[in-house]
Amino acid sequence: MLPLRYLPVLGALLIVGCTTTPKQEVYTPVITKSDLPCDIIDDEQTAVYCLQDNAEPKLMPTSLFPDAPDSLIQQLGVQDGVPSSISTFLMYDHGEWSLFDTGLGADHGGQLLTLLQRNGLQPDSISRIYLTHFHGDHIGGMMQGDAPLFTHAQVYANHLEYMHWIFNQTETETPQQHKVMAAYRDQVQLFAWGDSLPGGVVAIEAPGHTPGHTVFRKGNLLILGDLMHGFQLQYNHRYISCKYDMDPEKAAQTRNHIISIAHNEHLTICGMHLPAPSFFEVNPVSTSTNPKQ
Ligand SMILES: [Zn+2]
Repeated sequence: MLPLRYLPVLGALLIVGCTTTPKQEVYTPVITKSDLPCDIIDDEQTAVYCLQDNAEPKLMPTSLFPDAPDSLIQQLGVQDGVPSSISTFLMYDHGEWSLFDTGLGADHGGQLLTLLQRNGLQPDSISRIYLTHFHGDHIGGMMQGDAPLFTHAQVYANHLEYMHWIFNQTETETPQQHKVMAAYRDQVQLFAWGDSLPGGVVAIEAPGHTPGHTVFRKGNLLILGDLMHGFQLQYNHRYISCKYDMDPEKAAQTRNHIISIAHNEHLTICGMHLPAPSFFEVNPVSTSTNPKQ
């Protein structure tokens, strides 16, 4: 694992990693800020950065977790809310930039665009967007007003998710989802769970939060989407679902299953509502996680 201070020279490191062909022109632009939480995978050829979309600290109210006993809430000291975030993830992989979800959107206070630009990237720099599901805090950032923001990106969406929000519901029922998918109609690629997507990303079945909710795997990193809204509460008490989960029972089964995979394979996890420091190494012998160093 590279310490964060090496991030300003990440591009240079990647060039060193490809000694046979000079690829300077491919390996630009380079992230120039070193303050983004980051996980480096696949022999340092891939970097995944957390871009926190929320400007202010975010706590999930405990009322969102009706199955959580008061005693547990007291014991964990989360009476005022469970530390959380609204996060998106930016991947640099072999010369291309991709996003996992896009947050709320600048029109609703989302920081994604500002953070991209602060780090030398423009919306046109993004080649791919992988969507975990279609809730507004995940697809909102795809738009700027009524126009699509990422005009050069292929958008990968689960076919069941698409069917639920677009085919099974009218434009009046799910206006935001209809608007975004119409704006990106020429860029959307539908996938099924189990598919390997361009960029070496695998789509993993994770229904419950929404019908087509998807976890993505890249190397030894799992991008959990909305598997957990209250990490501190739900990681060790996976039966506790969130009011936002459309099928709470299925969400709990999925949470248990996916975390078991992370345990068995000693993976790193990150998620759209996990708190700082964003990336956690799953400890294969205990039921704990460690902030990734
Ligand atoms: Zn969400």
